[in-house]
Amino acid sequence: MELYDVIIIGSGPAGLSAAIYSARSKLKTLVITGRAVGGQAALTAEIENYPGFPEGISGLELTRLMQEQAKKFGAEIQMDEVLSVNLKEHPFTVTTYSGDYQCKALIIATGVSPRKLGVPGEEEFVGRGVSFCATCDGFFYQDREVAVVGGGDSALKEALYLTRFARKVYIIHRRDQFRAEAIIQERARQNERIEFILNSVVTEIVGKEKVEGVKVRNLKTGEESFLKVDGVFVYIGNVPNTSLFQGQIELDEQGYIVTDRAMHTSVPGVFAAGDVQERVLAQVVTAAASGAIAAMEAEKYIAHLEGKEYPGKEWKP
Ligand code: NAP
Repeated sequence: MELYDVIIIGSGPAGLSAAIYSARSKLKTLVITGRAVGGQAALTAEIENYPGFPEGISGLELTRLMQEQAKKFGAEIQMDEVLSVNLKEHPFTVTTYSGDYQCKALIIATGVSPRKLGVPGEEEFVGRGVSFCATCDGFFYQDREVAVVGGGDSALKEALYLTRFARKVYIIHRRDQFRAEAIIQERARQNERIEFILNSVVTEIVGKEKVEGVKVRNLKTGEESFLKVDGVFVYIGNVPNTSLFQGQIELDEQGYIVTDRAMHTSVPGVFAAGDVQERVLAQVVTAAASGAIAAMEAEKYIAHLEGKEYPGKEWKP
């Protein structure tokens, strides 16, 4: 079984930033990417608040550059999925489709997945009108009408992106206040292709072969209506990808990994970074920062394990 200094699970901005710092510290580093390289950020059409890119940059390009940078410093990046982990014995074991790997320190950067509405028709029409990714599927809605569900940054930003293709984008939100940044709200309000349906929830996604519309209930009046749309984009927040770690490290009541400010989890030698542990500000910049911290703490932990001199950087659990 191959032994690495650091294994990083996940290849979004947190995982790739951890890989840059870890490999640059000359630690033998393996990134196990998960199903797609780049995580949620890679599915974001435009990132305009990551420092250093005043014109904005696509999430795909930004994460591609991060990957290139990690490889340049010697990180191995493996397209693979983790099936299980054993954090009870050290070195830790990570089991993937391609085999078992061991590591002295583990960095969990598995991120989050889109939350589902849980209404009839949602599962049935995934790929046939129901989508969780405007960047992936928006192109198929040229001159069509679509609904976006949610009132956060993702819903409003992706609704704006969809106006490049769709002639009409309905934003269906359960309240009349938005979580989205003020600048995004303003842009959405000013966009003639966007129409808001507020204080309302989708109760069913309807169609035969593909989506033909949604049933909407107004929460204030109780009124039920049918909205004819060709696509439904669901952006109602996320759930953390932590099922692999249940019972092995401490999770909070919503399933996020509990870390301290230095990204230590409840298991010494296991660190977490990015959205999987972020409860204050889930942004690319904070994910990258926490990945860097996790990698530097992993370096200290390994030095401590091996009894190496590491002036000024001794590992404190
Ligand atoms: P979010 O901020 O958690 O917003 C989720 C939205 O979905 C809220 O409006 C919420 O309504 C609604 N919602 C939740 N459960 C629902 C349900 N069961 N039925 C109907 N509506 C429901 O999620 P997000 O927009 O995906 O953003 C996640 C994080 O990423 C946030 O921290 C966000 O700032 C960040 N982000 C930032 C950017 C950026 O460019 N800066 C872009 C994307 C994401 P309520 O408001 O009523 O709870």
